[in-house]
Amino acid sequence: MTRFASVYPLVTARAVARPFTYEVPEEVGVGSIVEVRFGNARRRGVVTELDVVPPEGVKTSSVERVAETLPAALVELALWLADYYGSTPARALALVAPYNAKRRGERRAVTEASALAAEAAPASLSDTQQHALARIVSLLDEGGGNVLLWGATGSGKTEVYIRACEAAIARGRGAIVLVPEIALTPQTLGRFRARFGDGVAVLHSALSEAERRDERERIASGEAPVVVGARSAVFAPMPSLGVVCIDEEHDPSYKQESDPRYDARTVAAKRAALEGAVAVFGSATPRPESWERLERLELGGRIAAPLPTVKIVDLRKQAGYPLSAPLLAELGGIAERGGKAILLLNRRGVAPAVHCRACGETRRCPFCDVALTLHGAGSTVGDARDSSLRCHHCGRVETLGETCPACGSAELARIGAGTQKLERALAKQLPELEVMRLDADAVENASDLRDVLERFARARRAVLVGTQMVAKGHHFPGVELAAVVDADSGLGIPDFRAEERTFQLLTQLAGRSGRDAPGRVLVQTFQPDARAVTFAARHDVRGFLDGELDRRRALGYPPYRHLVRIVVSGPSPDDAQQALQELKAGLGDAELLGPAPLLRLRGKHRAQLVGKTDRPRALAMRAAQLLAAAAVPMRRAGLAAVVDVDPQSL
Ligand SMILES: [Zn+2]
Ligand SMILES: [Zn+2]
Repeated sequence: MTRFASVYPLVTARAVARPFTYEVPEEVGVGSIVEVRFGNARRRGVVTELDVVPPEGVKTSSVERVAETLPAALVELALWLADYYGSTPARALALVAPYNAKRRGERRAVTEASALAAEAAPASLSDTQQHALARIVSLLDEGGGNVLLWGATGSGKTEVYIRACEAAIARGRGAIVLVPEIALTPQTLGRFRARFGDGVAVLHSALSEAERRDERERIASGEAPVVVGARSAVFAPMPSLGVVCIDEEHDPSYKQESDPRYDARTVAAKRAALEGAVAVFGSATPRPESWERLERLELGGRIAAPLPTVKIVDLRKQAGYPLSAPLLAELGGIAERGGKAILLLNRRGVAPAVHCRACGETRRCPFCDVALTLHGAGSTVGDARDSSLRCHHCGRVETLGETCPACGSAELARIGAGTQKLERALAKQLPELEVMRLDADAVENASDLRDVLERFARARRAVLVGTQMVAKGHHFPGVELAAVVDADSGLGIPDFRAEERTFQLLTQLAGRSGRDAPGRVLVQTFQPDARAVTFAARHDVRGFLDGELDRRRALGYPPYRHLVRIVVSGPSPDDAQQALQELKAGLGDAELLGPAPLLRLRGKHRAQLVGKTDRPRALAMRAAQLLAAAAVPMRRAGLAAVVDVDPQSL
């Protein structure tokens, strides 16, 4: 008897976002990746339903080849994802069924090449670790669940992940360990390889096609029951998932910022629910969302050493920014005795703005409505000739010149400080210290990053200067001082998460010092009384989150309500606003903020509408329908729209 199946051809067009019926051979199942004729082309497609009745009067063709078969749970996950985030099934299925290149030659062991050396495993677990592990294992045996694993940096979260993975493997199931950034995979991979050897695979978007195919094969066959990777590893083709660990779960990098705009944390919880697995969300500074919703397993403080003391430097009373007298004194001590320090300044370049003292003009990007950042070429202390002005939004580069283009005055002032200026100030004032820089300009790829981390690990008296990259979970042995040069830069951002992000950054940086040394932390700020600063200084995560949740409840922000953000961009500011005004009228009684204008980006005017809702899917779907209905006039006006469910920034 002839069998028919529903197949989604993997095409990106929204116009054909529906399944098509094909004749399939006997061995095909839900999750089979097949080759089909679609229109005049050959396409890959995914089987989503078997034994369907072909529509009448339509001549069906048969699939041409069966390439591989995915676990059926991944198909269900992708269809849910498409619906929740307002994408198309084909785009979501492409996440779980990436193209597999044909094999050429021998397999190369990508995990071995990219793993960092690991610390030895501890002989025994602490009481809190044992308790957390026992709870995770019991949930695993009871059919799954979600937990928050909360513990300071150095409290032993990774060891709990490792033991949870062992428990999953002992039950014939697999485990996924997610880290927020590709740059953090070598370190985690090293720890897991030390315990599971070749049973660990790695998945992230920077692998070559051949490497990804090899790793996916090892995962699908069960040869590698543990997968370590960034966001996309949540779609690993594991036959039966038992545990998924989300490390540094507070990190916004888990959200994908292009369609499908999924959040790997939400997807991990959904996948765990579909497969009866346990999702373990780990952090020293959890999201308010996780704090409120998840069962909490507390690891407490550090195993080896107490948390460092935090000293606040009030910049209203201390001159010398970016290097105040108390910070210089601390660094001077390191220059004298030897040791290491990390300085966080979350701004790249020399100065975030250049301003004319004569006419008041600030140099701006002509396309993005933001001040241009002054960068210095090379490491010489900047004169105008080797400096450039760069737009951090679109990448435009302009020459600085000797005079103001508006009035011709030579009185140009550099406002504020970036990492390059800090690097130069250190070289001038503390020449004994070796200074290294970790930011997107100094480190362009994984091997640059590894070089900087290794140089810093070997150094005797050194300062590592960097943006938020320095607070991101790398292990730096022997750091005795960590300092935040400007705690205020993040607080000024007009986003309801500004305080949460600042608190996380300060607390995470404090966790970088003193893992094996007496640590000291120094925070320079113009707002010493800001909640994010005072709670971080006391390491009071609980106090901060409780207050933050009160505020969010009063304002109707997550976790109490969901947000849906709709951005329209186009050549004129009025058209973008107008389109959103019409959309708002069509959305009826939903609670909507805006439309509000946003900064121009790459020459496009933008505006946004933010909806607060208990039913994000319904609101996003309604918005998508209205936008689709207005597609023709919008296209004519050059307008583009994006609907973002649970956005991570506003
Ligand atoms: Zn001027
Ligand atoms: Zn620009």
